[in-house]
Amino acid sequence: MNEYDSNRILDLAKKINYTSTKNIKEADCYILNTCHIREKATDKVYHEVGRVKKEFRNKKKPIVLIVGCVAQAEGEVLLTKEKYINAVVGPQSYHEINNIILNSENKIKKINATEFEVIKKFDQLNVVKNTNSKISAFLTVQEGCDKFCKFCVVPYTRGPEYSRPSSEIILEAKQLVENGSREIILLGQNVNAYNYRNQRLSDLLHSLSKIKDLDRIRYTTSHPKDFTEDLMQAHVDCKKLMPLLHLPVQSGSTKILKDMNRNHTIDEYLEIIEKLKKRKPSMKFSSDFIIAYPDETIDDFEKTLSLVKQVKFINSYSFIFSARPGTPAANLKKIDEKIAKERLAIFQKAANEIKEKYRKDLVHSTANVLFENNTRGLDKYFGRDEYFNSVIVHSKEDLTGKVRQVKIDKCNQNTLFGKVIIDNKPTEFAA
Ligand code: SF4
Repeated sequence: MNEYDSNRILDLAKKINYTSTKNIKEADCYILNTCHIREKATDKVYHEVGRVKKEFRNKKKPIVLIVGCVAQAEGEVLLTKEKYINAVVGPQSYHEINNIILNSENKIKKINATEFEVIKKFDQLNVVKNTNSKISAFLTVQEGCDKFCKFCVVPYTRGPEYSRPSSEIILEAKQLVENGSREIILLGQNVNAYNYRNQRLSDLLHSLSKIKDLDRIRYTTSHPKDFTEDLMQAHVDCKKLMPLLHLPVQSGSTKILKDMNRNHTIDEYLEIIEKLKKRKPSMKFSSDFIIAYPDETIDDFEKTLSLVKQVKFINSYSFIFSARPGTPAANLKKIDEKIAKERLAIFQKAANEIKEKYRKDLVHSTANVLFENNTRGLDKYFGRDEYFNSVIVHSKEDLTGKVRQVKIDKCNQNTLFGKVIIDNKPTEFAA
């Protein structure tokens, strides 16, 4: 979502004649868009501002704005502790960015813009064309969260759940496709809680499927509690919807899920997976895991391990529990670090074995790949298959933006390599 927000901030700032630069030394304004989901996010902000300070030591000071969730969470503290910062701007206030930049140019005063003005924000963004032209583009459809999982900062930094009007989303999707995008990834902290005047995520998926020249749709991130039957059916009916679902579970133990305030059991989670697989056997799954959540016993941990083995997630993102200031879980007693590290290592070994087997089984199979760009050199193209696996091929044809069948002939941990199939035969190009 920060990538989407950063692009939209740039779209807005172009209205006052700012543009992006890859050369920090020539920047007049430095905008740091921040995420608060990982540990030490605030330290990273101070470190980064320190880097800018050093760069501009004997030069004219650039305007420095801290945007995003760290700005929201720390607000005034950042302005007080680091005088080099001109303004802090929360994720629901960045539609004010141009006024803030102009204000800072005139050195009027430091600004703390951390109101939850999500409706105003999207009203403002709707009148500025989304200029992103990436083959695979993000599109925010929903923001915020009302779930209050005990470990998570999102409800405090992004605010309550809000769904954008579907007509605005469809208009923005059409803009992206006109710009050249062929895949749209719908974003929301609780994307499947999307509900605009009884229009659900499934309705949105059906409407977006009708956009000519849009080849693929994905969405992330979902909550099991909001996984409704109509959304399951959309996976069958919307042919453009890719067959990979990222459905965070966090733990394999119902007891820990209750402690986390996740509001569902493991049986309910597995029921969603089974129902989806029954309706669409090609479905695959990925998930997020928190290892060593406070009070996690060895029995709870083993339940997480056995869930991974049962579902065979093709990607498992795992982290040791770390406390976020201000969340209820921050006050709980942590599990001994050595035990936590041991559990993470055991978990990741098991998850990687599943992933490795899955990827090895893909060798000699055929994948439909949407190519995004050519990498280093003229004839090497990067794309993704339907399951979001990275694929690289050699091709004399410009494949950017095209979907091609690829015969996979080898893989490493992160990438599949193959040959484009032309006239039922894999093409041969020197590697
Ligand atoms: S549902 Fe997701 S975003 Fe909401 S509080 Fe839980 S982990 Fe955070």
